[in-house]
Amino acid sequence: MSLPLEGKIAVVTGGASGVGLGIAQEFVDSGAHVVITDLRREALDAAVATIGPNCSGIVADVTRLADMQAAYRQVQERHGRLDAVVANAGIGAHAPLGAITEEEFDRTFDVNAKGVLFTVQPALALLPPGGTVVIIGSTASIRPPRGMSLYGGSKAAVRAFVRGWIQDVKGSGIRMNVLSPGAVDTASLRSALAMAQGADHVDAAVRTMGEGNPTGRIADAREMGRAAVFLSSDASGFITGVELFADGGMAQV
Ligand code: NAD
Repeated sequence: MSLPLEGKIAVVTGGASGVGLGIAQEFVDSGAHVVITDLRREALDAAVATIGPNCSGIVADVTRLADMQAAYRQVQERHGRLDAVVANAGIGAHAPLGAITEEEFDRTFDVNAKGVLFTVQPALALLPPGGTVVIIGSTASIRPPRGMSLYGGSKAAVRAFVRGWIQDVKGSGIRMNVLSPGAVDTASLRSALAMAQGADHVDAAVRTMGEGNPTGRIADAREMGRAAVFLSSDASGFITGVELFADGGMAQV
């Protein structure tokens, strides 16, 4: 039996760590060749080495259209095609209403909203009928934890993007969906918890987050990868414009 992404070429932005790395690993295990992009050269090289021969890396900043255009040119030159895009690169933002600065607002929307536009727009020329786009959202877009309204707002934008964009690409055969995790056990989540609660309390904080979830735990990055494989494979062939909450039920109760 063939693998769900056999022979496909995929781009995963922000693939050097965390959720993006988990997605890239699952894509490769599902038969794809994955090009991961990231800002951080060393982390990118380490991720490529970890994932193995069906993975390559390109340094590109999603907030710079020219970077993303150059990245897709390289994908076209090296592989001659592109089948799947995962717009994963994103940053957190923690500030209550009274403390949100213009600089933090601009940075958050630059990466989490404009970066998604610059990831998807230049890919359109390469994606064939049957091509897919998955944008990583967040349950914070419907239930922002305290102090995360700015982040939640930037993630809410991508839900509107896909609902509009599927109409803009009508007839192309390209599908676009949002995949929204709740809490995922990544290094960046752990360092945010360490900053908020102290390094000694991180494990306890992860456990407490899990206890607030109907599943009793938080997610593993590979689980986000498997959900992204589903949205990028023929198994979801008639699913477009949806937001799939892969959150263990967190936002549903
Ligand atoms: P992470 O910090 O581990 O990974 C994000 C990656 O994106 C990093 O490797 C970083 O270098 C890269 N990146 C940041 N800005 C970039 C830019 N301008 N251009 C290119 N690359 C850039 O974080 P993560 O937790 O793995 O988050 C990945 C995605 O998942 C984000 O969109 C985040 O909002 C979303 N998410 C994460 C969680 C969670 O609990 N970890 C929950 C919901 C949603």
